[in-house]
Amino acid sequence: MVKVIMLGPPGAGKGTYATRMAPKLGIPTISTGDLLRAARDDPEIGGIIRKYQDSGELVPDEIVINALKKRLEKDDAKNGFILDGFPRTIEQAKALEGITNINVVINLDVPEEIIIKRLSSRRICPKCGTIYNLLYLKPKVDEICDKCGTKLIQRDDDKPEAIKERLKIYHEKTEPLIDFYKEKGILMTVTTDRIDVPPEEQVDKIMSILKEKKLI
Ligand code: AMP
Repeated sequence: MVKVIMLGPPGAGKGTYATRMAPKLGIPTISTGDLLRAARDDPEIGGIIRKYQDSGELVPDEIVINALKKRLEKDDAKNGFILDGFPRTIEQAKALEGITNINVVINLDVPEEIIIKRLSSRRICPKCGTIYNLLYLKPKVDEICDKCGTKLIQRDDDKPEAIKERLKIYHEKTEPLIDFYKEKGILMTVTTDRIDVPPEEQVDKIMSILKEKKLI
């Protein structure tokens, strides 16, 4: 059983790698961004989620932690999982310690200029969640999802103003988690130095780390 956190700035590849690792490991990827996006029409909390997500700000801890807790109770998460986009604050990391124990944190270290290029050319399938990139991870047919044929969209928070805000928040609130997990001895860093590095190459690196650590 392996419980993994993917840590890194927006656009570092957390979701792209996690969704490729999940079938190899036989465990689900749990993305709090996706959980929250799925709750945008909720009559109680949808309005709050939309407000924060659209401006690139962090959704309040209480809402995110509740959504994650509920998701972790589902049967498919009983044998391990990959967390994508959670925790994003020290408070969330501490709350997570009260819910479950994590084996390894994969810290994706990517230079800022690569991140900005990647985020602004990212497109996603609104139906199945597959992630594409117009620069190096293109769909076979322009702007159409390879898997389900749906027209791809650009997320509102992948537009320039929101990207700036998300990076600022990453530095302020999420980056301190690197030291938090380093001190716990479970942080492993994977570096990216080119924009077109194939996802499979990074996934292989991460899988080797999990093997070396005897986690799989
Ligand atoms: P992501 O899909 O991980 O890039 O997340 C998109 C947006 O969802 C973020 O910019 C936040 O507004 C919100 N979000 C996702 N995960 C969290 C989290 N752990 N804490 C707070 N907000 C989150």
